[in-house]
Amino acid sequence: MLDEKNILIRCDGLVKIYQSEDIEVMALQGLDLQVERGEMLAIIGKSGSGKSTLMNMLGGLEQPTAGKLFVNGEDLFLKNEQEMTRYRKEQVGFVRQMSTRNLLPYLTAAENIEVLLDGKGKGRKQVREQALDLLAQVGILHKKDAYPGQMSGGEQQRAAIAAALANGPEILLADEPTGAVDTKTSGEIFDLFRRLNEELGLTILIVTHDMKLAGRVNRVLMISDGKISTEKIMREDYRRALEALETESSLGQRTHEEYSVLDQAGRLQLNEEILSQAGIDSRRVKVEVVDGKVVITKE
Ligand code: ADP
Ligand code: MG
Repeated sequence: MLDEKNILIRCDGLVKIYQSEDIEVMALQGLDLQVERGEMLAIIGKSGSGKSTLMNMLGGLEQPTAGKLFVNGEDLFLKNEQEMTRYRKEQVGFVRQMSTRNLLPYLTAAENIEVLLDGKGKGRKQVREQALDLLAQVGILHKKDAYPGQMSGGEQQRAAIAAALANGPEILLADEPTGAVDTKTSGEIFDLFRRLNEELGLTILIVTHDMKLAGRVNRVLMISDGKISTEKIMREDYRRALEALETESSLGQRTHEEYSVLDQAGRLQLNEEILSQAGIDSRRVKVEVVDGKVVITKE
């Protein structure tokens, strides 16, 4: 169970409708979400399910069509333009899906961070030092004078993470940060996120397609059709084993317990797999309570 007092992010019935020409796309369909301070969670889901839309909203880049989003108990979309700019700059760090959006190609790794550091009351030397500190923190200090085009995919992602951390945010959003790198690099980037989570207490939300990586976080949320349909919570015995071993190589397969999520109106989404396993092919089912359990049967 989540600790109510410790909730950092809360989404209540978020809806996002994109209108293009004469078609409407409902990217988020009443999404509810709560994230505790200091959590690191993974978000998975098919392409087009609304993952980036959610991240952009959490990053303060997009407004919902309906619903509310609270960060630290404050309604994000009641903020004025100035407060919103401060939110984007200081409270949330964002590694966006297209890696080319994260770094300016005509600036070096260090310069990319320097331009983001708040100049107020800080001398050039201090800004430089802070930028180098950040690059060291993500393990690419040796690339400080390299332009993005001179860095590998993994190094560019590390630089993007350093840039996202520039103004000391409490939330770090990463939209498919390992989408374009090899398995080894993606594991290393994931380890970096874990370290930032543990050492800085950052709250981190990572969108990923990589189930192996998702399997290493305590909570995995699955988005389907603009809503969170299932939640996987790491099994307590697996977590203890992981902590004791510090490697997952010799651990079994069942790492997480999967739960379906009820929305605020008590609605439940059953995925195709479950429906076909139960042989349910109609739009109507019978729902009964039998011996304290809810049983859903075919019409
Ligand atoms: P994901 O990141 O899970 O692949 P997105 O959040 O990017 O999904 O998109 C969700 C849905 O919204 C998709 O159908 C997508 O085509 C649509 N969509 C996203 N952004 C826009 C936009 N700016 N204009 C119109 N439709 C959009
Ligand atoms: Mg996306």
